[in-house]
Amino acid sequence: MKAIAIDGPVGVGKSTTARLVAKKLGMAHIDTGAMYRAVALYQIENELDMHDADSLEKSLAQIEIEIKNVSGEQKIFLNKRDVTEKIRTQEVSEGASVVAPNPRVREKLVAAQREMAAAGGVVMDGRDIGSHVLPDAGLKIYLDAPTEVRARRRLLDIEAAGKSASFEQVLAETITRDDRDKNRKHNPLVQAPDALCIDTSIFSCPDETADKIIKIFLDIN
Ligand code: C5P
Repeated sequence: MKAIAIDGPVGVGKSTTARLVAKKLGMAHIDTGAMYRAVALYQIENELDMHDADSLEKSLAQIEIEIKNVSGEQKIFLNKRDVTEKIRTQEVSEGASVVAPNPRVREKLVAAQREMAAAGGVVMDGRDIGSHVLPDAGLKIYLDAPTEVRARRRLLDIEAAGKSASFEQVLAETITRDDRDKNRKHNPLVQAPDALCIDTSIFSCPDETADKIIKIFLDIN
């Protein structure tokens, strides 16, 4: 079965939507953002500079990242350690968008992503899946929503996790991360020419977005 690629900017609901689509269609979900987050976590835990290309290159030789499906949930392992929860901090989110422009980082992670998708039947979400990682995906979706809407959703997620932040702070971070993703040299965030754009602000929850994608997928298969 051909893959489904789901791309889009920060906080648009890609991963939640991709997980629901995969579950309902009986496919595997691969959240590629988690892999960039794992690289950032390695730099943080080892007190290494995120911006230093030499340091990142050395780290890549020491890093093994695995994505496993445990009881239907995606778990991410960094050198055999489950870091699924640890990669969800604000510091790691910020770090991931700093390490992501590095071409060596992208080379290593993209190769791993293509290998994971080779067996078929995957729903993969990220920034460059339709445009670069899986150019032959059977369905390419680009999710979008106004920046303020995405920042407000992220703020709700942060509060639901028992943490606090101001809307202005979350909005500023969202703009900075989008800017880095859209303006980097290697595989920036773009809508692939053959991707279908869905504005998620018209939906009240990710389930509705997922149902729309499933309907499109079933119509063309
Ligand atoms: O999607 P998520 O917020 O978890 O991604 C974290 C960061 O990883 C993004 O801000 C982006 O810089 C990077 N990323 C990427 N390419 C992907 C997935 C994520 O550059 N395919």
